[in-house]
Amino acid sequence: MTTKCKVLVVGGGPGGYVAAIRAGQLGLDTIIVEADRCGGTCLIRGCIPSKALIHAAGRFEALNSHARKPRMGISLAAAPTLDVAELIAWKEGVVDRLNQGVEGLLKRAKVRIVGGWASFSDAKTCTVETGEGEQTIRAEHVILATGSVATELPGLPFGGPVISSTEALSPTRLPARLVIVGAGYIGLELGIAYRKLGCEVSFVEALPRILPLFDRELTRPVEQWLKRHGVAVHLATRAKRLTETDDGHALEITDAEGARQRLPADQVLVTVGRRANRDGWGLENMAVDLDGPFVRVDDQCRTSMKNVWAIGDLIGEPMLAHKATFQGEMVAEIIAGHRRRFDPRAIPAVCFTEPEVVGVGLTPDEAKAQGIDTVVGRFPFAANGRALAMEAGGEGGFVRATARRDNHLLLGVHAVGAHISELAGELSLALEMGARLEDLFGTIHAHPTLGETLPEAALSALGHAIHIAN
Ligand code: FAD
Repeated sequence: MTTKCKVLVVGGGPGGYVAAIRAGQLGLDTIIVEADRCGGTCLIRGCIPSKALIHAAGRFEALNSHARKPRMGISLAAAPTLDVAELIAWKEGVVDRLNQGVEGLLKRAKVRIVGGWASFSDAKTCTVETGEGEQTIRAEHVILATGSVATELPGLPFGGPVISSTEALSPTRLPARLVIVGAGYIGLELGIAYRKLGCEVSFVEALPRILPLFDRELTRPVEQWLKRHGVAVHLATRAKRLTETDDGHALEITDAEGARQRLPADQVLVTVGRRANRDGWGLENMAVDLDGPFVRVDDQCRTSMKNVWAIGDLIGEPMLAHKATFQGEMVAEIIAGHRRRFDPRAIPAVCFTEPEVVGVGLTPDEAKAQGIDTVVGRFPFAANGRALAMEAGGEGGFVRATARRDNHLLLGVHAVGAHISELAGELSLALEMGARLEDLFGTIHAHPTLGETLPEAALSALGHAIHIAN
């Protein structure tokens, strides 16, 4: 049986499901095919479960710290205990609720959901193995949103003690010793959570620094947290192979000088990046051009094949949920006849590490590399009342605003500190709206909030911050 539709979306992640909902809202006859549960990597095994785990780990650590040493007059007679099965059940509850919400929204938008793996025979036709048998779907427009999968290391294939972020988000019990290969944001977020839950954690990173997408000034507070909490970080070091030992396993590592070392490990979490999910669904039958490992698109997410669109992780960096979501909504509107285009100038990036790191736009070094003369202002959380009242002032956190020297146009804002992920929206809005430093301090910010650091950073760039000596 062949089903026809106007719009076929393949992949129910934050790119695909949003594209489908918007297409449905716009009255386009839409089908979405998803092999797993709607929500994709982000909702089922990425952003949401990791943030739930990070939150629970933070709570556990805070209770532990009060048990170790009374503070603010709060003490605990005994250290808290952890029931891993209960923790994972709670996290799954959060995921389930959102998954059901997404499916409900799709149905309300009159989108037909087909469960199964889509395989394309040509650019507009796919077959899906569903629970009720094979279904063929032909569409006028196809939106490819198949996302990405974790990258494996040749010497450390996933399986047994070698796990990906997916398994790390659903442990049955916690490893006493966890070695993480790759100190990007996924590895660091999970590693810090595992450390807070009581595991011994160490990192092996091939580059000479952690979080390479952020500059050293921003990553220093994270490095200090790792040091203070006994997390070893082996930089410029490569993981080679895992061998068995009497009491578990050992990961063989080699540093830049060729010196070898064996790190005892109960589990090895490999977080060395993600690759576009291009294989096993007939992309080669669609006559779509590639751009290296990704599907090539223009600034409206059109592929080289007429009426075939691609969005999200499948088309490249930054591999972030909010980028996929924006593109999904945009493509549905373009199909419906609206004028839209994708301008990646103000995509925020957040690391939910300890402390958190957030950035949008150019760093001072990036601006310099483009030959732009800048002014840069910084404001420390240690001088912000709300940060101190929330114990968030002592970690070396700060906000940094980078603007053009000639007209004070904001080029980038970056911050590191506890809870600053919630500032990401304001930072992006400022850049998206073409704010100048004067707009930042010309906006009255509520007191006492962490957001007050932003106008102060702008004032500091002009040499007259109020609450610090310039
Ligand atoms: P995906 O979410 O990967 O969805 C693709 C979907 O397509 C999947 O559900 C898959 O089952 C389905 N699919 C693929 N092929 C087929 C087929 N042939 N037939 C049927 N279905 C198919 N991003 C952030 O912005 N913030 C974060 O805090 C964050 N944290 C993360 C934490 C972790 C541990 C991980 C792994 C990722 C995280 N990300 C985060 C990245 C984010 O999850 C991705 O950028 C985002 O999910 C990409 O969305 P997408 O729609 O392109 O694809």
